[in-house]
Amino acid sequence: MHSIRSRAIARSLTQARISARIPTRALVRRGIATNTSEAVTESTTASSIPPPPQPPRQSKWRNFLQILGRTTLITVVLAAGGFYYVTQKERHPGAQMPFDPEKKTIVVLGSGWGATSLLSTLDTADYNVVVISPKNFFLFTPLLPSVAVGTLNPRSIIQPTRYITRHKARQVSVIEAEATDVDPVNKTVTFIDNSDIKGAVSSTTISYDYLVYGVGAEVQTFNIPGVKEHACFMKELADAERMQREFMDCVETAAFPGQEAKEIDRLLHMVVVGGGPTGVELSGELHDFLEDDLKMWYPELAGKIRITLVEALPSVLPMFSTQLIKYTESTFKESKIDILTKTMVKAVKEKAVVLQMPDKSVVEVPCGMVIWAAGNKGRKITQDLMAKMPTVQTNRRGIEVDDFMCMKGAGGSIFAIGDCTATSYAPTAQVASQQGAYIARMLHQMAKRDALVEKVGKLERIGAALGTTAEATAEEKARINEETEEARRQLAKIKLRPFHYSHQGSLAYIGSDKAIADLPFMNGNFASGGVATYLFWRSAYLSTLFSLRNRTLVATDWVKVKLFGRDVSRE
Ligand SMILES: Cc1cc2nc3c(=O)[nH]c(=O)nc-3n(C[C@H](O)[C@H](O)[C@H](O)COP(=O)(O)OP(=O)(O)OC[C@H]3O[C@@H](n4cnc5c(N)ncnc54)[C@H](O)[C@@H]3O)c2cc1C
Repeated sequence: MHSIRSRAIARSLTQARISARIPTRALVRRGIATNTSEAVTESTTASSIPPPPQPPRQSKWRNFLQILGRTTLITVVLAAGGFYYVTQKERHPGAQMPFDPEKKTIVVLGSGWGATSLLSTLDTADYNVVVISPKNFFLFTPLLPSVAVGTLNPRSIIQPTRYITRHKARQVSVIEAEATDVDPVNKTVTFIDNSDIKGAVSSTTISYDYLVYGVGAEVQTFNIPGVKEHACFMKELADAERMQREFMDCVETAAFPGQEAKEIDRLLHMVVVGGGPTGVELSGELHDFLEDDLKMWYPELAGKIRITLVEALPSVLPMFSTQLIKYTESTFKESKIDILTKTMVKAVKEKAVVLQMPDKSVVEVPCGMVIWAAGNKGRKITQDLMAKMPTVQTNRRGIEVDDFMCMKGAGGSIFAIGDCTATSYAPTAQVASQQGAYIARMLHQMAKRDALVEKVGKLERIGAALGTTAEATAEEKARINEETEEARRQLAKIKLRPFHYSHQGSLAYIGSDKAIADLPFMNGNFASGGVATYLFWRSAYLSTLFSLRNRTLVATDWVKVKLFGRDVSRE
């Protein structure tokens, strides 16, 4: 009975609470408030408590834009902050340890791919390091053909060597000079200042404990008459700048009033010798320059420009898979670049190139310019060094090294890397940089090993002295014994491993915004070509550049060329 009454009271209370919240008109409609005056009273009570404001309804689209805007803002601020931080870190290197006369000295010859990779990886706390190179910068050679046609600014693909060495733990001495002699017996290097301005001293000799020999190679002309005198090389930055100047000279000369049609054809015929990646990339870049810019600014001449690629082997790009070779050949055909395979250059003249065709006939082909991208040979200093070890250094391709990149016959004090060596690997930047990094790691291991050998010797001497000292406690002797054993254990763990090359794939730009790539993939090979590969080519090179500064400069140049085209003015 009690529970029935209490339930009824609770129900009426709940109803009263609900009716206070429901507007009067609704109560009337529902027949809950039957009496009008009752409804008015209710209404007065309800109006004294204003209903909570309805939250404004936001469209999903607006919501999305708001989130996107905020995310973009945060990303831009973070990226700009990170960018600024890295650039300032690159620009303001910290303090370095001074030279330590107790440490061994490494002399590095060269500032190319091998040497720069070594310098980036080397722990300079272990050694005193001296770098000698006639160029005080590193040149990113894969993008050199882009400089030759003005796609990239020459400064964008070089990196001063000091920008790398100033970030090392210990001071590194960078000397702009050309090494002229290496004495492997007395372990010395002689070098000269070969720049235009010379001081009172312009030649000197220094000693080394280890020499890292990375002087690269020079252009192989095969003693073909006229190549040195009339052809334009594609090896150094100056070569690319010269090619750009001469190419524009040919175009401007062809535009000279009164020039005969035959002479115009000659001046506008560009012959590229060498069907390797450099020759192919150069032909592709020349074609782009023609299509994207010259057609616009020299409409009367552009249709007359011809590009011929000459290769002595049966096909271009022999290091790429057959399908990519075919793809390149068909792309070149579309681009109207002539490929002459099984064709040998017999001579280069001022206004022509002499070719031996596949049928052995010899023809003289008039041309405005010959660009030579056909092989490497050892530099004079390399030949001289090899001549000092005539019994072991007999390979005409370059320096013979063992599995640890040690020059054979040099007693373990000279490491040779990159294009100056004769190994089973192709002369590429990939090989040279992996060898440079390998030598740096090995030198670190050797420094650790030397320190442990010294420590073991010291502990053994202490142990021997304690053995003859009556006052030495058994505890002391045991501690020294334990320390000696521990040092020996650590020493035994240090094992120098032979160099192992890991191929990351081959890439080449073939013009018309297309590239080809042969990439190792699951014990096989993945071959691709086209516009997507071209984007991959660009991002791969951008990430391979050594510094943020170079990446920014190269990316900016690409954007500039897309927006404004290449510069056709000539210095
Ligand atoms: C146009 C072009 C495009 C290329 N593209 C690619 C590519 O896409 N992918 C690839 O893997 N490879 C490419 N290569 C090949 C690559 O550049 C070389 O294999 C690589 O540079 C070899 O490195 P290195 O350290 O042995 O020699 P280098 O990089 O040539 O460096 C040699 C260094 O030694 C210095 N030197 C010269 N003489 C002396 C001396 N007497 N004393 C002291 N120093 C000296 C030079 O100034 C230079 O700094 C290209 C090469 C060229 C020319």
